[in-house]
Amino acid sequence: MMIGDNVVVSMHYTLTNNEGEVLDSSEGAEPLAYLQGASNIIPGLEKALVGKTAGAKAQVSVEPAEAYGELQPELIQQVPLEAFQGVEEIEPGMAFEAQDPSGNARRVVVKAVEAEQVTVDANHPLAGVHLNFDVEIVDVREATEEEIAHGHVH
Ligand SMILES: [Zn+2]
Repeated sequence: MMIGDNVVVSMHYTLTNNEGEVLDSSEGAEPLAYLQGASNIIPGLEKALVGKTAGAKAQVSVEPAEAYGELQPELIQQVPLEAFQGVEEIEPGMAFEAQDPSGNARRVVVKAVEAEQVTVDANHPLAGVHLNFDVEIVDVREATEEEIAHGHVH
């Protein structure tokens, strides 16, 4: 059976950036199962797998626009240090939950700390990153009606 909308795909994958660093991998774990056509995985990878069958291996290169989006400079902001009251020491790399202007929780990562200013970045950690997937399709099966209704694999 071929990969198309409303099929469940199980695959092993290794994700690297253009520097060859491994960012994520299913190696040593169960294959990742997802519902094709339900935006369970990034659009660029989902599109590239259409028509493939169990046993197929593929190398898929995905531009940021088809993955986690471009880096948005306006999401990198300076926040006064006093906004972090109650936190003993602020260091680059620390992550916090912040609220965006519409009141949604958003994860921000501290990029830099100066005297009274903290630079925080609310971009997705993989925003602006070109993703390279090494994929092996393990299984392709028809989704159940319930899975299609829920938009995910059971
Ligand atoms: Zn469900």
